[in-house]
Amino acid sequence: MNMTSVNVTAANFVAAQFNSVDKVFESRGQRFEVLRGFDLTVREGEFLAVVGPSGSGKSTLLNLLSGLDDASAGTVVCNGRIVDGINTHVGYITQQDNLLPWLTVQQNISISLEIRGVAPAERADRVAAMIAKVGLKGFEHHHPSKLSGGMRKRAMLARTLVYDPQIILMDEPFGPLDAQLKVVLQAELLKLWSATGKTVVFVTHDIVEAITLADRVVVLSHRPSRIKLEEHITIGRPREVHDVRFTPGFEEHYRRLWAAIEIHGAGGTHQ
Ligand code: ADP
Ligand code: MG
Repeated sequence: MNMTSVNVTAANFVAAQFNSVDKVFESRGQRFEVLRGFDLTVREGEFLAVVGPSGSGKSTLLNLLSGLDDASAGTVVCNGRIVDGINTHVGYITQQDNLLPWLTVQQNISISLEIRGVAPAERADRVAAMIAKVGLKGFEHHHPSKLSGGMRKRAMLARTLVYDPQIILMDEPFGPLDAQLKVVLQAELLKLWSATGKTVVFVTHDIVEAITLADRVVVLSHRPSRIKLEEHITIGRPREVHDVRFTPGFEEHYRRLWAAIEIHGAGGTHQ
């Protein structure tokens, strides 16, 4: 099914919403305005990708939605409630690798359930099932330092998915991985997403990745950020991750998104 064709207007189909959000960081007497009057609606069950130049506020958006940070003005709403403190409806896979180095893969995943008061027997079952799902069977007792980059990403994904959050926030999760591994993990993510119907907000600086995965891509401008372009991806599902770039429509999406992303500076890189 092509999720983009779903016409959503009713309030109960909204997973999250930024309403006229300002975000200003103050540091050593300097005001650093990241978001100004920012509006964005995330629909229930959609796969939304957020792209934009470095420093445009992508991580800030996820921090606000997860409640790790608060807005300077305006409101962030999630599942009908204003986010005020840690938002338990979301699972957040942050840009930094934050597996606990002294715990094994199994323990790192289990701790998510422990914190939420899940009984030990149920915990063991759910952790084992999730380890199998993300392809980490056989590595349960390894410590993070003994894992490859891709395996650590799988462990981070498992640690978030295991407690079954309604909304999954991912901040450039596959950024540092090599191209082949990226494709494998993207495919697995799409499989997990389509099997669960979760809402995903996926930050990336990779336009191909955004088109490959998302129902909708929003492009942020330089800060203070606003949405410069909203692109509905019309490529049908299920998608073959390695093949999406050769399908009709891809090139047009790519051209429009590429034109919208402002890349400043001689280096020409935006992340
Ligand atoms: P992106 O993820 O798009 O690269 P961020 O959301 O991390 O951008 O940051 C947006 C801007 O806000 C950046 O210029 C960054 O330096 C600044 N910023 C982020 N967090 C803080 C903070 N805690 N204090 C001061 N400035 C910050
Ligand atoms: Mg970031």
